[in-house]
Amino acid sequence: MSFVEDARWFAVPPNPQTCDTPGRVTLVGAGPGDPELLTLRAVKALGRARLVLYDHLVSKAVLRHAADDAELIYVGKQAARHTLPQESIIDLMIRLAQSGRSLVRLKGGDGFIFGRGGEEVQALAEAGIAFDVVPGITAAQGAGACAGIPLTHRDHAATLVFASGHLRGDNEVALDWEALVRPRQTVVIYMGVGTLAVICEQLARHGLAADTPAALVEQASLPGQRCITGTLAELPALARQHGVRPPALIVIGEVVALQPQLMRGMQGAQPALA
Ligand code: SAH
Repeated sequence: MSFVEDARWFAVPPNPQTCDTPGRVTLVGAGPGDPELLTLRAVKALGRARLVLYDHLVSKAVLRHAADDAELIYVGKQAARHTLPQESIIDLMIRLAQSGRSLVRLKGGDGFIFGRGGEEVQALAEAGIAFDVVPGITAAQGAGACAGIPLTHRDHAATLVFASGHLRGDNEVALDWEALVRPRQTVVIYMGVGTLAVICEQLARHGLAADTPAALVEQASLPGQRCITGTLAELPALARQHGVRPPALIVIGEVVALQPQLMRGMQGAQPALA
């Protein structure tokens, strides 16, 4: 396989409008990182693709499932790397498909969960380009399973909320705080490492108890996975102390209190004898 690290230099075949049979785009969710968590359909789509456009959250181990002769183009967004703005990614996909090339658009987790996959397939639909969507295991599910947090354990949670801690253009975290502090609920926040202090402060201000169990799950499912648990009040200091870096999820709710016991079980420890 060949890698194109800087998608700005990727040459699309000329005269795209003249092609009779446009290519097809397959939006594939790559899961949280461990290639064993790819779906069979994702593995098949990757193995067949000649051209793969992938994001920065897609692990190297996942990319190994691409065919030997595939071209892999990095279009992720990450500081200090050459990347394309979202409109250019969409534009590149449309031009490639119009020029008759089919491709896999590979995204971390699930493409429709905070992955902007919705915008991408919307643009494809508008341009009249056929597409398929292959779901992936989203980071929250990966983190729950791999770090031992049963997100909707019925004794502790009746609702599960996924939210984004991403900063808006005006430097605000725009979340419905009242909705996030409801009882018997687990809240999983994506993209919240940089805004963790604001998030915890706002949740407390809107009535969530300071001693609510909370966790940070970094690199879920990957060899470097870490799960740091504490309380809502402690979480920002714990993140600093442990140097937590993206990708990481914030998990808040009573279910987090079960994590140490479940993790011991997953590691095969014997329960203490009474
Ligand atoms: N579409 C992706 C989410 C993309 S948003 C999905 O469904 O999982 C990017 C955010 O996802 C990261 O900032 C982080 O909060 C979370 N994330 C992705 N992979 C992760 C992983 N392996 N461990 C922990 N968090 C992860």
